[in-house]
Amino acid sequence: MTAIPFNRPYTTGREAALMADAVARGHLSGDGFYTREASRMLAEICGVPFALLTTSCTHALEMTALLLDLQPGDEVIMPSFTFVSTANAFALRGARPVFVDIKHGTHNIDESLIEQAITDRTKAIVVVHYAGVACEMDEILAIADRHGVPVIEDNAHGLGATYRGRALGSIGAMATLSFHETKNIQCGEGGALLVSDPQLHERAEVIREKGTNRSRFFRGQVDKYTWVDIGSSYLPSDLLAAFLTAQLEAFDDIQQQRMSVWETYATSLASWASDSGFGLPSPPQHTQHPAHLFWALAPDLEQRQRFIAHMAGAHIKTVFHYVPLHDSPIGRRFAGDISLPVTESVSQRLVRLPVYAGIHSDDVGKVVERALSFR
Ligand SMILES: *Cc1c(COP(=O)(O)O)cnc(C)c1O
Repeated sequence: MTAIPFNRPYTTGREAALMADAVARGHLSGDGFYTREASRMLAEICGVPFALLTTSCTHALEMTALLLDLQPGDEVIMPSFTFVSTANAFALRGARPVFVDIKHGTHNIDESLIEQAITDRTKAIVVVHYAGVACEMDEILAIADRHGVPVIEDNAHGLGATYRGRALGSIGAMATLSFHETKNIQCGEGGALLVSDPQLHERAEVIREKGTNRSRFFRGQVDKYTWVDIGSSYLPSDLLAAFLTAQLEAFDDIQQQRMSVWETYATSLASWASDSGFGLPSPPQHTQHPAHLFWALAPDLEQRQRFIAHMAGAHIKTVFHYVPLHDSPIGRRFAGDISLPVTESVSQRLVRLPVYAGIHSDDVGKVVERALSFR
């Protein structure tokens, strides 16, 4: 019996040809032809004027921390139920992540708990659109406006998703994307920073190019380039941008393939789930999600672990996440001894099923069949 992996990075078949073309063009460092192509396509999908390709979503988040001029002692509000990079990017600048609980249903930050976490040291609110299902952005932006604090969208899951018709990534002051091989659109390792404000965008270009005004130089706007700000090297090689361009050309097909897997799970597992006490996703009406991941919520930890073992018995790999950041060795240093009940409960009970473009429909059928036999 062949195993069904949890994820297999999908390729369209065009990646190698576009990378060969990048080689033939003779520009292999960052900001070549394919960087412009991929950035243009991303800006269009996200409904923003500019997208800056980066080497990862982690690095794009680090850029937001630099753009905010964070100082030691500053605070950044975020969920604990997220990937470490959401917190690391700000911790690296000496800022303190302030963890807020999530909500049942979407597993997004609980907007009703944000305001009480704001202090005079709060410098940003970072939201994570979990599974690409939008956070309650109207409420969150209203809180942020009342306190004059910018909102950053960690949109690693939500490329192509919408909130009340608006593309995720276009709503906060800044947003980040990931093209890690586990994400919908991928180039192995990669990411992007989205900033709509022209001045912030200009500074982001500088920070991304080692703190120099090299981008302006190449556009002929200055006659030599020099060190004008702090920065680092956050731009990917044009070879990776060529790979990413091939993926973005197939964006609609990739999203549709994933959605069909997602819908099959949602439909086929619905009555089993209600009979066996498992929860399934049911995204709010005003959101459109991109089928980034499909989760089931077991009644308790013991049943979650039994479910994973049951699936493994048919060589089907299922996984769980996230280990709550507030309950990690470094997280505790920032958060102290706090309890976030929903985060802790979801983290112990959530399991993810295989969702990827290119998964064979027979394999999707096997996943369903095996899950249905769990008692
Ligand atoms: C994947 C992910 C990241 C990190 O992305 P990289 O491109 O691997 O750096 C950050 N935040 C969230 C929520 C993620 O899922």
